[in-house]
Amino acid sequence: MYTCGPTVYNPAHLGNFRTFLFEDLLRRTLRLAGWKVYQVMNITDVDDKIIGRADSSGKTISEVTEPVTDIFQRDREFLRIEPAEMYPKATEHIGEMIALVQQLVEKGLAYQADDRSVYFAIARFPNYGRLSRLDTRTIRPGARVIADDYNKEDVRDFALWKAAKPEDERTRAAWDSPWGRGRPGWHLECSAMARKYLGDTLDIHGGGVDLIFPHHEDEIAQSEGATGVTFSRFWCHGEFLLTDGEKMAKRVGNVMSVTDLRDAGVGAAALRHFVFSVRYRQQLNLTEEALEASQRAVRRVGEFADRLSAATSGTPGLVEAAGTLERDAKAALFDDLNAPQAVAALFDFIRRANSELDQAHGDDKTALERARSAFAMVNGVLDIVPDAPSVAPYLESWVASKISAREQARARRDFNTADSIRREIEARGIAIEDTPLGTKWKKVR
Ligand code: AMP
Ligand code: ZN
Repeated sequence: MYTCGPTVYNPAHLGNFRTFLFEDLLRRTLRLAGWKVYQVMNITDVDDKIIGRADSSGKTISEVTEPVTDIFQRDREFLRIEPAEMYPKATEHIGEMIALVQQLVEKGLAYQADDRSVYFAIARFPNYGRLSRLDTRTIRPGARVIADDYNKEDVRDFALWKAAKPEDERTRAAWDSPWGRGRPGWHLECSAMARKYLGDTLDIHGGGVDLIFPHHEDEIAQSEGATGVTFSRFWCHGEFLLTDGEKMAKRVGNVMSVTDLRDAGVGAAALRHFVFSVRYRQQLNLTEEALEASQRAVRRVGEFADRLSAATSGTPGLVEAAGTLERDAKAALFDDLNAPQAVAALFDFIRRANSELDQAHGDDKTALERARSAFAMVNGVLDIVPDAPSVAPYLESWVASKISAREQARARRDFNTADSIRREIEARGIAIEDTPLGTKWKKVR
């Protein structure tokens, strides 16, 4: 599986991460179905925006992209997106890209224009436009096509290799090639790296819907033009994340980052729940209320997870509920990744299992194990159990001193003081419970 990765000029926003979460859902679902997954995700570390950013701050492109790539990996890990097997960088595959362009030139599918850039000749590739059904739409050159296109044979032709400009040299974004100094066009890296690591034909190629045209159309033209065989057997595209009904995008100025999310106290489990509340083919609107609803929902999942792991006995009804969960969640996920339906199956299970656990007595460990494994299977795909709240060391000693003060108050039968200490502790989000072995406490989710 090849999935187009981030352009590392700015930390990825939650819109980008919606696409990466959909791909995470896809890889986890494929594995649930028994497939082995090998995923390659490229890092776009040379393009117009990166060069612009570097040049305006007197940096080289790698000085811009390296810290942003680190932030991407940190944010990805925070959101529990499984790592791809490989993250190749565009700038480390210039040789492969040049070889691909050479092949296209030899086949007569590419030409060098007067501006010294090399273009793909769309008119000589009859399949151009099949993926995006271009014949049914008017052609609007994409944003990443070189704008001054009077040099080209056809306005639709896109750049494979762009002749170097002074800012490219200044920011170290220029390389030697048979056509002179220059740099690769954006689409080229994916064709070259997918071929190098996954072969001429991929099983699955993924990305956001905005990549269908021109990016993926151009990848197909380059790859199939060079190899003569199908580039990807399946194409999977995720719909947009919106804010206030508009695509979340840097240029619109409505982006939220993973750092913003953490600052707002929203964890990975809640964001995943929010993203999986709608199918990947539908647009999803980000609102505060929706995030809050997801926070409440995953709190329930977390409380249930705690209860299930602490339980000492199950019931026959629990075995039945586990079977239903496995069947329904798999049917939903295998139906074109119907995550919302899988989430609903999980909540049905939680409701049923909670009432079974209310009635459980005795020692039915087998039923418990059955329930735990069904829960783990479905959560292994969705991954929506919130992190156990962490307790700062100062809070730990504070609670210990309060509990001992409360015990002393109780010992001298001063119940007013004892109660007020309990309220003080609870106000810090800590629940206490008096047991025969003394007072126990825990941070509540
Ligand atoms: P970029 O870093 O711009 O190359 O984009 C990385 C990925 O994020 C691509 O697959 C885009 O299609 C996707 N993407 C960009 N904006 C959004 C959005 N608002 N919602 C969902 N996916 C997006
Ligand atoms: Zn790509």
